Amino acid sequence: MSRMKAVQVEEAGGPLQLVERDVPEANEGQVRIKVQACGICHSDSLTKEGHWPGLQFPRVPGHEIAGVIDAVGAGVEGWRVGQRVGVGWHGGHCGRCARCRQGDFVLCEKAQVPGISYDGGYAQFVVAPVEALASIPDDLSDADAAPLLCAGITTFNALRHSGARAGDVVAILGIGGLGHLGVQFARKMGFNTVAIARGQDKAALAKELGAHHYIDSTTQSIPDELNKLGGAKVILATVTSGKAMSAAVGGLGLNGKMIMVGISEEPVEVPIAQFIMGRHSIQGWPSGTSADSQDTLVFSALSGIKPMIEEFPLERAAEAYDRMMSGGARFRVVLKVA
Ligand SMILES: [Zn+2]
Ligand SMILES: [Zn+2]
Repeated sequence: MSRMKAVQVEEAGGPLQLVERDVPEANEGQVRIKVQACGICHSDSLTKEGHWPGLQFPRVPGHEIAGVIDAVGAGVEGWRVGQRVGVGWHGGHCGRCARCRQGDFVLCEKAQVPGISYDGGYAQFVVAPVEALASIPDDLSDADAAPLLCAGITTFNALRHSGARAGDVVAILGIGGLGHLGVQFARKMGFNTVAIARGQDKAALAKELGAHHYIDSTTQSIPDELNKLGGAKVILATVTSGKAMSAAVGGLGLNGKMIMVGISEEPVEVPIAQFIMGRHSIQGWPSGTSADSQDTLVFSALSGIKPMIEEFPLERAAEAYDRMMSGGARFRVVLKVA
């Protein structure tokens, strides 16, 4: 049995520890992936802090996995050794529950998440079921693909299901890990793209990412500025503040919709009469399936969209995690494994 390096958490709230483990075997319906890169996501704290019901320890975190298939289990068709693949938040589904029977795999009652339901990508090898795989295009690097498998797919999939059409005003609230990708997607999807963030120093970055307009929420009224453009068809809320979202909903145009992808414990307050008379709505959006991930990767490769990343070797995972969680990293942190 060969051995590998992995970074695991031994108990809820415990440190990320570099350990040696047996290389896992691919069972029926699974592939083994030689990990090349794995992104660090804020949701990895669910694993590290044990904030997920039924989570078992020790556990290797990581659900932004990019690598190469290194072995295939029995019964696997359509995937071969040597193929580049990614695994994101959608790490498997049962295929039998009511939601799966309706084709809504990402909301499967027994949905699996790498790094939570089974060991994830902070390791040299990971085993995943075939339904979790996304093919990575040749001209996309592993380090760039990794964050697209969670932060990328979430914004891409929310925008493409938003109902906005080419030329519509689409605002991205927040230019962080999610938002800096959301601005790029919105621009490349053909929307009249507005970036909203705090401070004038983000204006240049917003333009660089492709925004046609920039709103500095510290000095400008978001509703006033969006209404000057005719109101937003869509506001993609990537911030993690209910208050910040509440301050923006007034900028929706007729039939406009706010889509929430950033998580906050604060509620969002909406002006009810305005919502009724403008036929406004508000919606949450949960990521997508492995097929949606693959679409995200292809669209990104075709249109030159890349995450802004800082890279760390696997051995420095604990430091990289702290950098991501402390907000020290501006956008996304990626572990280079191979
Ligand atoms: Zn994530
Ligand atoms: Zn299911």
